[in-house]
Amino acid sequence: MKKPAEGREVWFLTGSQELYGEDTLRQVAEQSRVVAERLGAASAVPVEVVWKPVLTDAGAIHRICLDANADDECIGLIAWMHTFSPAKMWIAGLDALRKPLLHLHTQANIELPWRTIDMDFMNLNQAAHGDREFGYIQSRLGVPRKTVAGHVGDPSVADRIGAWARAAAGRAELRTLKLARFGDNMRDVAVTEGDKVEAQLRFGVSVNTYGVNDLVAAVDAADDGEVGALVKEYRELYRLAPELRPGGDRHESLRYAARIELGLRGFLEQGGFRAFTTNFEDLGGLRQLPGLAVQRLMADGYGFGGEGDWKTSVLLRTLKAAATGLPGGTSFMEDYTYHLRPGQELILGAHMLEVCPSIAAGTPSCEIHPLSIGGREDPVRLVFDAEPGAAVVVGLADMGDRFRLVANAVDVVAPPEPLPNLPVARAVWKPRPDLATSTEAWLTAGAPHHTVLTGALGTEELEDLAEMLAVELAVIDAGTDIRRFTKELRWNQAYHRLAQGL
Ligand code: MN
Repeated sequence: MKKPAEGREVWFLTGSQELYGEDTLRQVAEQSRVVAERLGAASAVPVEVVWKPVLTDAGAIHRICLDANADDECIGLIAWMHTFSPAKMWIAGLDALRKPLLHLHTQANIELPWRTIDMDFMNLNQAAHGDREFGYIQSRLGVPRKTVAGHVGDPSVADRIGAWARAAAGRAELRTLKLARFGDNMRDVAVTEGDKVEAQLRFGVSVNTYGVNDLVAAVDAADDGEVGALVKEYRELYRLAPELRPGGDRHESLRYAARIELGLRGFLEQGGFRAFTTNFEDLGGLRQLPGLAVQRLMADGYGFGGEGDWKTSVLLRTLKAAATGLPGGTSFMEDYTYHLRPGQELILGAHMLEVCPSIAAGTPSCEIHPLSIGGREDPVRLVFDAEPGAAVVVGLADMGDRFRLVANAVDVVAPPEPLPNLPVARAVWKPRPDLATSTEAWLTAGAPHHTVLTGALGTEELEDLAEMLAVELAVIDAGTDIRRFTKELRWNQAYHRLAQGL
């Protein structure tokens, strides 16, 4: 079966020891192979699950952890102690492991065979204490991991392992991600700043700035024939405003937007970049602020942040990688304005132009309107409402000595009324638990106005990702109470400072 995260795999490790003898170890191998196969076959698990021979000594355990570290396709390990695997054997391996780990606490059988159970059965099916030994050594060594308990036939087990595998795919993408910034940060803005050296150490992502006029050169060099073909694609995919159509007054602006897309796409492909930023204050010789081009590149999986916001761009690419193959879109977003009618409070999110059409409900319209800032020609953009449904809004802040992720579970809704005069793509949502609690918590956490909105992922994938990256995550959801949340932030602050060491 073809998996959405192609070329990515997780390895399935089974722990035991020689003491049991050949016959039992053969059964351990057979049964663990079945568990691995069932997980691999589950649609919720987005990667191949590769079963590895049963581990019975420290040397083999150390070796497989080193092999996992070195293997580019392996994004994480699932470990199950089918029988008792004395955990001193795991110290060297776990200490060396640099890939995400999931501890699966399961058992081959569902029912106990009450009438026939004997000591052979007891000795074969003893994850109940084998996994406790393994849990101890992981906690003793401080190994970050996710623990999932339950039978492999329970769909929630595959769902939770799938969420972890998605987070691992996001992390794997982040480890080797390259981001190109066109221009620096918007002048004087604080929250979009950040420590790029720390980001490269902590996440792996490399963030570098390129002269805007290097991009302008690529835009100017775009081939006229390719511009024509791209304009044709726009006509097929979107509801094109009459003035943008061939023969329309503004058709030349659409051709220039296509030229930006070709230049930008070529620049990113050539440099191996999967994320980028722009800044309307620094457009060099660009005639329009890139709108349509940015929207379409996001839809193709690129990370993006406006105003030089590389942190949100990194987060967007990471979450798009994690969400591969799932229904629901993932976009750059900005908290813009509120509807404060008591009991019906809503947040209207949008940006100057750059919202990803992966979250669109229906066919976007392609329009041209003036932009009140930037002082350039009117930019072309896609306009649409976001698809209603459960979603998460996530922000990444640099707290000076570390990064903090903040996530809010929300419900995207259809706008209560049409928005005929709003010339940008937008999403309207109801934050959980309510607007006052959500925004008070968000502001208390110092979380940003630029975010990623995803209808594809939930808070579980984010929690798994934060664990893998050893980054703080504060979640605002239906259970949030502002008093407890404020204390949680304080405790987190103390914990993360202690965890950093000296
Ligand atoms: Mn912005």
